[in-house]
Parts: sequence; structure tokens; C-alpha cells
Amino acid sequence: MEKSIANLAAHGLLSVAAIRALPEDELRERIRPSGYMTRKAAAIKAFVAFLDQFYDGSLENFAEESAEIARERLLALPGVGPETADAILLYALGYPAIVVDEYLRRVVVRHGLLAEKAKYREIQALGEAAFADEPHAKRAEHCNEFHALMVEVGKRHCRREPVCEGCPLEWDLQR
Ligand code: SF4
Repeated sequence: MEKSIANLAAHGLLSVAAIRALPEDELRERIRPSGYMTRKAAAIKAFVAFLDQFYDGSLENFAEESAEIARERLLALPGVGPETADAILLYALGYPAIVVDEYLRRVVVRHGLLAEKAKYREIQALGEAAFADEPHAKRAEHCNEFHALMVEVGKRHCRREPVCEGCPLEWDLQR
């Protein structure tokens, strides 16, 4: 991901206008380091078309949308599931959205908080409850940090084969 963003930045392509003007096959080449470039390039193009359709091509206009409507519209886009929609709400719009990715799912299941087949919304509700008493702005900041920390725990420890020794959540496993 970082390499693709750096690649786009190095070619002056980190803006809605630049992505709009860029042919899709060139976009695929720029984001090649991220993998699944065909699907991702189509999704990025669809997102720009979405901005054009509903928000006059402006991220600022989109940022003023309510979380409910933004989420509903994002979920109607091809290739956008709940995880991507919530990541956009959190990172692009600053809404306090809990992003449920594979890493968070593994931690929740391995620590016995929910069953293995728990639905996306059940895991999300668990995270939301943890930050429910905080003011909106603080919640967004903490949801952001929470997601980043879960990604790190997932990459370093909670892999397909868990490496519990030295994991910052090991204490909870041993209760
Ligand atoms: S202690 Fe860490 S690696 Fe082990 S199950 Fe928990 S989160 Fe995963």
C-alpha cells in the first residue's frame, strides 16, 4: 500500500482530479505493488465516479455527508464491502467507525469474546461499546488508533499461526 501511494505521489497523482484524468490501465501500473491491481484500479475509478455523481467531485463535500448516508452509498459501489466502507468513513471522513478486519476478527475469536462465525456487525458492536462514552472527536481519534494497533498486533503476532509470546495482549489470554 505505502509503495503504491508513494508511486502515485511521485507522479503527482494523489488528487481526485489527477486520478480522474488518469487512464485505468496506467492507474493499474501505478498501484501494481499493492497487488490485485485490476480490481483495485476499478474500485478507485468507481470511487471517483461516485464523488462526481453525488458530491460534485469534491472530497470536502463528501466529508459533510452524514455517516449513515455515506456508508449506504459506499456499500452500493462495486467491490466495496463493510470493511472498506468503514475504513473510508474513519480515515477519509474522520467518523468514529470501527473497522473490522481479519486481524480484529482473529483477536476477538482467539480471546473468546465472540464465536468464530461472528458477523461483522457483532464484532463492530463490541468495539463501539468500548468507546461509547467518549465525545465524538475523541472517539474518532481512538477508533483510528485502535485500528492501527490491531493491524500491528495482527502483523506481528496474531497471524494465521499466532505468536502469543511477547504479544501485548498475551496477558488477556492468560487470565
Ligand atoms: S495473545 Fe496476541 S497472538 Fe496470541 S491470540 Fe492473543 S492477540 Fe493473538
